[in-house]
Amino acid sequence: MTMRNVSVIGGGTMGNGIAHVFAQKGYQVTLIDIRQEALDKALATITKNLDRLLTKERIDEATKTATLANITTNTDLKEGVSNADLVVEAATENTDLKLKIFKDIDAAAPANCILASNTSSISITKIAAVTQRPEKVIGMHFMNPVPIMKLVEVITGFKTDQAVTETIISLSKDLGKVPALTADYPGFIANRILMPMINEAIISLHEGVAGVEEIDTIMKLGMAHPMGPLQLADFIGLDVCKAILEVLHEGLGNPKYAPSPLLVNMVTSGDLGAKSGRGFYDYSHGTKELIVAPSFR
Ligand code: NAD
Repeated sequence: MTMRNVSVIGGGTMGNGIAHVFAQKGYQVTLIDIRQEALDKALATITKNLDRLLTKERIDEATKTATLANITTNTDLKEGVSNADLVVEAATENTDLKLKIFKDIDAAAPANCILASNTSSISITKIAAVTQRPEKVIGMHFMNPVPIMKLVEVITGFKTDQAVTETIISLSKDLGKVPALTADYPGFIANRILMPMINEAIISLHEGVAGVEEIDTIMKLGMAHPMGPLQLADFIGLDVCKAILEVLHEGLGNPKYAPSPLLVNMVTSGDLGAKSGRGFYDYSHGTKELIVAPSFR
């Protein structure tokens, strides 16, 4: 099937990146958010990221202009998906919200439109079940930051059609990404493996086995990870990490996935990582220097 019109739902961290990569490849993108300020911020972020590519001579001025011209925005979900060939949903990670969005887009999008979700952990089969087209619902899990990270984890729901999977795999390749296929079980692959590692790092910190810097240094230099697990947790958002661990814990029924009590306390107290100014590191100084948060010094 030929894809031309792509609607992206949610103009936050992931949505703006997803809109960017589709638009730069020549797709007509409608970026949808319930908040106009999120759309304004998304366009500003895309422009800033295109400028960075321009400075590095990875794109030319004409590509920047064409990319921005390929993006329109809309605060009306139903109108925004009305002529879509593909919808990629990247709204807030909340099950009830996503089920409502998929019910609405199923009613408003053309019958042959594929409905994809960028969810980190919510079951694609569960999302598909609220639509009249479960065979056309699939997971398209981009990584943050989307314009840079190569992976797209493609998640097939219980009823996803093989032809739909093949379309999404070739589309991901067309975007310059590398797709990898997984079945729909809690955490898929990326988070099923990443989150227990992050949780174990937090448990080790809580038990006093090593400090924040030591844990991150050991994993960075010892395993050639570009970022230690505690810094990565701050980058992802501690609330997001906790939510994914809860999905793993509930869905797989194994106590080893239970979020560390330290992680739970930090989220409860509002220390959510980089976005809130404090997590395992302190971000309130406004520089790029990595400074351990006061509670862990
Ligand atoms: P975010 O909070 O930055 O953005 C979410 C956006 O969704 C907000 O702008 C919000 O206004 C909008 N939104 C909420 N309800 C909406 C609705 N009904 N219709 C339209 N827009 C609505 O979140 P994010 O980090 O971009 O995450 C989005 C999705 O991507 C989540 O499912 C998340 O699990 C997944 N994800 C996140 C990351 C990451 O590192 N942040 C990585 C991979 C996948």
